[in-house]
Amino acid sequence: MTSTVVISARGEQRLEGGHPWIYRTDVGDVHASAGDMVSVRSPRGRILGSALFSDRSQITLRMLSYGETIADEALINRRIAVAHQFRQSLNIDATAYRVVHGEADLLPSLIVDRYGDYLVVQTLSQGMDKLLPVVVEALGSVFAPRGILARNDPRARLLEGLEQRVDVLAGEVPDLITVREGRIEYDVDLRRGQKTGLFLDQRENRDAAALYAHGRLLDCFSYDGGFALRLAPLCRETIAFDISQEAVARVRQNAARHEITIDARVGNVFDELRGLERLRERFDTIVLDPPAFAKTKAAVAKATAGYKEINLRALKLLNPGGILVTCSCSYNMSEAAFAEILHSAAIDARAQVTVVEKRMQGRDHPVLLGVPETYYLKCFILRRVS
Ligand code: SAH
Repeated sequence: MTSTVVISARGEQRLEGGHPWIYRTDVGDVHASAGDMVSVRSPRGRILGSALFSDRSQITLRMLSYGETIADEALINRRIAVAHQFRQSLNIDATAYRVVHGEADLLPSLIVDRYGDYLVVQTLSQGMDKLLPVVVEALGSVFAPRGILARNDPRARLLEGLEQRVDVLAGEVPDLITVREGRIEYDVDLRRGQKTGLFLDQRENRDAAALYAHGRLLDCFSYDGGFALRLAPLCRETIAFDISQEAVARVRQNAARHEITIDARVGNVFDELRGLERLRERFDTIVLDPPAFAKTKAAVAKATAGYKEINLRALKLLNPGGILVTCSCSYNMSEAAFAEILHSAAIDARAQVTVVEKRMQGRDHPVLLGVPETYYLKCFILRRVS
C-alpha cells in the first residue's frame, strides 16, 4: 500500500476517542486518489492504521484497521464472515435481515441485507465502492446466494461523487422475492422497494408491540403493513394509513393473503389524525413510524415540530390504558431530544404517560459505541395512564 494520508493532532485524538471517521478539516498531506485504501499517519509520521479515502466527501477517511494491522481483501472477507456468524447466532425468526451494518461491523459504508436466497448490497463511499468486486466475491463464498443486487441508489452516494444505480452483480434477481418475518410472508421488490425492500430494522419492535397491542389499532405510516399485519390479529379492529397508493395496495394484498382484516387507507397522517380527532374517534393502540423527518442537522427544528404534532394528536386519540408505539429513525434526533418532544406532547395533550419500553433498531443493526450515527432508530412504547 503506497497511498498515504497525514491527519492533524485533533484527528488523531478523534481516532483515540473511538470514532472511525476523519473529516476534511483534520486532513493534511494527501498522497492518494479517489477510493484508495490508504495508510493513515500522525503529524509525526506514526502509522495509525488503514482507511478508505474519499476525495469528495466531508468524511475523508473511514478507518478499516488500527495500528500495524493490514487492511486487505482477506480482512474484508473475514469481517463479512464474522458478521454472518453473529447474525446466525441471533436466531432471528425471519428470512430477511441485515447481515452487514456498516461501521458497526467494522465495514464502514457497507450495507448488506439478506432476503432469503438473495443479497442486497449498498456501497456508500468511494473506497467501499471500489471494493465492490471483493465484497461480491466474499459474499459469494460465505452465502452462496442465488443472486446479488446492488441497490446503489441512495442520495448519500452523490456526496461521494458516485452515481445512483441499481445492478445485478451476480446470479439473477427476480422481480419479486418472497420472504417471511415471523408468520407473515411478504413479496418484496428489491429493485424498487424503500431502503433495500423492507424495513428490517423494526422486526423486534413489532414483536415488542405485540406484547401490549389490544382493542382498536391505528397504524400510521404503514408502508407494506409491517406493524399492522403483526398486531391486527391481537386487536379488535385495525386501520392503517400511508400516503403511498402502492404501499396501501400492498397492505391490502398482504392482509388478504393472511386472512387478516385491515382497513388500509391512503392518506397524509398529519391530516388524518386531525380528521379522526374531529370525529372524536378513539384508539387503544397507535403506531407512529414516520420517515426520517430530520435528514440533516439543519432540519432538526422543523422535524421537532413534526414529531411533536403527530405525537400530540396520537396521544389525544388514545384511550386511558392505551399504548403508543412511537419511533424516530433520524440519527440527527437524539434519544434525549426525542424523549423531550414526547414529554411536551404529553403535556399539551393533557395526558399522563409512562414509558413502558425504550427500544432501538433490531439486533442485526447493532450500534457501535462512540458512533452516534449508528444509533438512528429510537422507539418508545408509551402507555397513556390517564
Ligand atoms: N411502518 C413501516 C415503515 C414505515 S416507512 C414498517 O414497519 O414497515 C415510512 C412510510 O411513511 C412510507 O411508506 C411513506 O410512504 C409513508 N409516508 C411518508 N410521509 C407520509 C405522510 N405524511 N402521511 C402518511 N404516510 C407517509
